[in-house]
Amino acid sequence: MGSIIEVEQLQKSFGALEVLKEITFEVNPGEVIAVIGPSGSGKSTMLRSLIHLEEVNGGTIRIHGKPLVEKGGYAEKHQIRELTASMGMVFQHFNLFPHLTVRGNLELAPRTLNRGSDEAIRARSLELLAKVGLADKADSYPSMLSGGQKQRVAIARALMLQPEILLFDEPTSALDPELTGEVLRVIRQLAEENMTMLIVTHEMAFARDVADRIFFMDRGEIAESGTPEEIFGSPQTERTRAFIGQD
Ligand code: ADP
Ligand code: MG
Repeated sequence: MGSIIEVEQLQKSFGALEVLKEITFEVNPGEVIAVIGPSGSGKSTMLRSLIHLEEVNGGTIRIHGKPLVEKGGYAEKHQIRELTASMGMVFQHFNLFPHLTVRGNLELAPRTLNRGSDEAIRARSLELLAKVGLADKADSYPSMLSGGQKQRVAIARALMLQPEILLFDEPTSALDPELTGEVLRVIRQLAEENMTMLIVTHEMAFARDVADRIFFMDRGEIAESGTPEEIFGSPQTERTRAFIGQD
C-alpha cells in the first residue's frame, strides 16, 4: 500500500515572505509523525495547506495517490472536497461551533455530506464521545466544558468522517498544564490503534515517546527528519541542537 500523503516541493509565500520552501515528505499508513520547530517556521501553514485552508504557490500534494494540487495546479472542486474530507484536523483553539451542542458539533459534517442515516450518525457520535470519555456531555454546549474537554470533543469530531489521517496543530498549547494529559492520552490511544497522524507539538517528551518519525521545521524547511532516537539522541544540524536544547 502506498503513502497516505505525498508532498513534493511544496512552496507557499505570503506576499514577499516565503513560508514553505519546497518541502518534500511522505506519510505512510499507520505512521505517527511529530512536527517540531520554532514559532513562525511554517508548521501551521504546512498543515493548513494539506486540507486546503491555504492555497500553495507551487508543488504537489497527493492523498492516497490522488492529486489535490499537482505542480501548483489544483484539482477540480469535487475532488478537492473529497480529498480534504478524508483528513481530520484538530486546531489549537478547538474551533467548536458555540451554538451547537457537543453532539451537534460531531454530527454536522456527516449530516451535511449525507454520510449515513440519522440513526447511524447519532450512534457513531455517541460511540466516539464514549471513546474520548465524554459520553455524559453529548447535550452540553462547548461553553460549559473545560479546555481539555473541548479538545477531546474536537478530536471526536475529527474522527466522525472516518479519516485516513488526523492532523493536529498544537492541540495542547492553549490548555492549562493540568489539562494537557487528558488530551495527550487520547492521542496516544489513537496511536496505539494505528491511526495515521501528523502532530505539530511543543510537547517534546510526548513527541519523543509517541512518534515514529520527527520532522524538525525551521524557516520554511524540514531542516532535519529522523526517528526520535536520531533527532533527540544525535541531532545532525546545529539548528536542531539549538532548538532541542542540546550542545
Ligand atoms: P508556525 O505554525 O510554525 O508558528 P506559521 O505557519 O503560522 O508558523 O507561520 C509562518 C510564517 O508565515 C510566519 O512568519 C507568519 O507570520 C506568516 N504567516 C502565517 N499566516 C499568514 C497570513 N495569513 N498572512 C501573512 N503571513 C502569514
Ligand atoms: Mg503554528
